[in-house]
Amino acid sequence: MGIAEIFGSNVFSESVMRQRLPEREYQEVKTLLQSGGQLSMHTADVVARAMMEWAVEKGATHYTHWFQPLTGITAEKHDSFLANAGEGRAILKLTGKQLIMGEPDASSFPTGGLRSTHYARGYTAWDITSPAFIKEISAGTILCIPSVFVSYTGESLDNKTPLLHSMEALSEQAIRIVRLFGDDKAVKVTPYVGPEQEYFIVDKSRYLQRRDLIYTGRTLFGAPAPKGQELEDQYFGVIRERIGAFMHDLNVELWKMGITATTQHNEVAPAQHELAPIYCTCNQAVDQNQLTMETMKRVATQHGLVCLLHEKPFAGVNGSGKHNNWSISTDTGENLLDPGDAPNENPRFLLVLSCIMKAVDDYAALLRQSAANVGNDNRLGADEAPPAIISIFLGNQLDDLVDQICTKGSASASITGEKLVTGVSTIPVLQKDATDRNRTSPFAFTGNKFEFRMVGSSDSIANANTVLNTIVADAFAQAADELERADDFERALNELIARNMREHKRIIFNGDGYSQAWVEEAAKRGLPNLRSMVDAIPALTAPETVRLFETYGIFTRAELESRAEVMYETYTKTTAIEARTMIHMAGKHFIPAVVRFITRMADSVNKTRSACPEADTSVQQELLTSASTLLRQASDANKDLAAAVEQLSGMENGCQMAHFCHDTVVHHMARLRAAVDSLEMIVDKDLWPVPTYGDLVFEV
Ligand code: ADP
Ligand code: MG
Repeated sequence: MGIAEIFGSNVFSESVMRQRLPEREYQEVKTLLQSGGQLSMHTADVVARAMMEWAVEKGATHYTHWFQPLTGITAEKHDSFLANAGEGRAILKLTGKQLIMGEPDASSFPTGGLRSTHYARGYTAWDITSPAFIKEISAGTILCIPSVFVSYTGESLDNKTPLLHSMEALSEQAIRIVRLFGDDKAVKVTPYVGPEQEYFIVDKSRYLQRRDLIYTGRTLFGAPAPKGQELEDQYFGVIRERIGAFMHDLNVELWKMGITATTQHNEVAPAQHELAPIYCTCNQAVDQNQLTMETMKRVATQHGLVCLLHEKPFAGVNGSGKHNNWSISTDTGENLLDPGDAPNENPRFLLVLSCIMKAVDDYAALLRQSAANVGNDNRLGADEAPPAIISIFLGNQLDDLVDQICTKGSASASITGEKLVTGVSTIPVLQKDATDRNRTSPFAFTGNKFEFRMVGSSDSIANANTVLNTIVADAFAQAADELERADDFERALNELIARNMREHKRIIFNGDGYSQAWVEEAAKRGLPNLRSMVDAIPALTAPETVRLFETYGIFTRAELESRAEVMYETYTKTTAIEARTMIHMAGKHFIPAVVRFITRMADSVNKTRSACPEADTSVQQELLTSASTLLRQASDANKDLAAAVEQLSGMENGCQMAHFCHDTVVHHMARLRAAVDSLEMIVDKDLWPVPTYGDLVFEV
């Protein structure tokens, strides 16, 4: 089958619905997809039957409400289509009610205290804006119904519900903006997202020899291999055969499910790769990214490989992130982030830009928080990923415009892209983009979209987009409030653009985001620098955040508090698992190996001396002494770490526990690692109990 036939073959798409639904029901669904609203029970029954028949033809035996609880990954509970027809016979059934709503026993999902376990009800409800699809897994062929997950009392318990609310808020406010400029055709504005997904691939048999990879998804020990990424020979390099076979199968699986996997290449670090789809509506992009991550893991296993989505699987080489490319377009196809040929003559664009500057500056801490997860703490600000400071990169053209507007109140000209002349006669003269790129910026304008580069590779992109949509909606709302009332629109518009830009110019930074100078400069500008997840969590419950989200009906205060609680808990639990894994590996693997090594050296000294008393045994003695000293350090750190973990079990306050992990547990983890990594450099390879970095990243 060619790519065109494969693509979307497992999606219950609009075109499948057009073929399989009666006209009246199809029209009802189509209207809902465009303008929202509720599905009638009658139509739900008709859709459910058509969906089931389609799925069964494709071999499906089960269906599931596929949802996104606060664990950050997806959840599913399979139910077969079987229904009892009496007399020992079975019929197949999926009713409208079953399609629209499910009720998983929700007591074991994180809720941050929103719901106690004896009120365990949670409901999943079909998100009609994200198409149902079929997943072919070893457990069977499963019809997946993308769903939201809410509590009995209606609080959101997932990442999708707030995202959908934020999209509605953005649409409502953005429509007010386009109306100001005389557009009376557009009825909806939609955020579009294309997430670039980075990942590592290692050999499964080696992976299985490392408890740290198995339990935590990253290496907690490991001395650097003699070669890292310094030759820059991995980036865009030729894809190794085994990886290529994996990528091929991955693409086919993703295409079947309607995911436009399009770009694939080797990334900077050895064994690191990237996949990017073509952008689509924000909620579908979120769903598809979850599905992409899950499929990467599944297909890798089929190739005897393991896909590591952790933000920092290996120390000393780059970690993985997810570039969240985001733009907003009307249903009439106009991208509000498209500057056009002469952005200085495009007041709507300038207004939108000034609103985004305001949104990002006003809510920098919240945006930073939206990209916080435990793994990302090991990556942000480490000279390979954006710093933990939010700033915007605009590039020459827009930077110049902002400058002109801030100084003169308006912009009279735009810098345009120059010609790129190579001097080689056979190569055509090319038109350059008006701006170069800046890899170090967390939030960069790239032609007709913004690229939020802070999100972690394993994280859902839902939160980042919920925040982005909402803060921009809020800036739009304030602008619309002011401009709708204005007597002299042109004047008010120019004043507002200039004011937004002047007040929020500090958020623009076009220089090297990895430099220490920027950290200092940002501090002078008063920009928040929230280095770790525990520092970022309070932004979620800050008064301005609560006001923002409550205004647009996205989160209540209680929901935000519960989410903060879940984040603290996740930080503590994840760190404790890492600490216990280290204690296990040190005690069961490394310390015994080092003792064997020391004994081997001692034997060597003794045996050499008795065989030849005047022989020089100083090398063995040196190794013996160094290993013994480091062993002492490792053992001390291990004991301190164990004591810290023990102390943790006596605490109750979520915030306090997370801080204790951040300040104390992580510190002892680092001490233990340093000692063991030094030992790795000394101890014989044949005694070292786990595969090394070199084995893991260069031998796939
Ligand atoms: P790169 O930034 O690596 O050069 P691209 O800019 O081509 O790559 O695209 C990166 C991602 O951004 C892709 O997923 C692409 O589909 C997406 N993208 C491109 N244009 C837009 C847009 N207008 N809105 C949202 N995402 C977009
Ligand atoms: Mg990009």
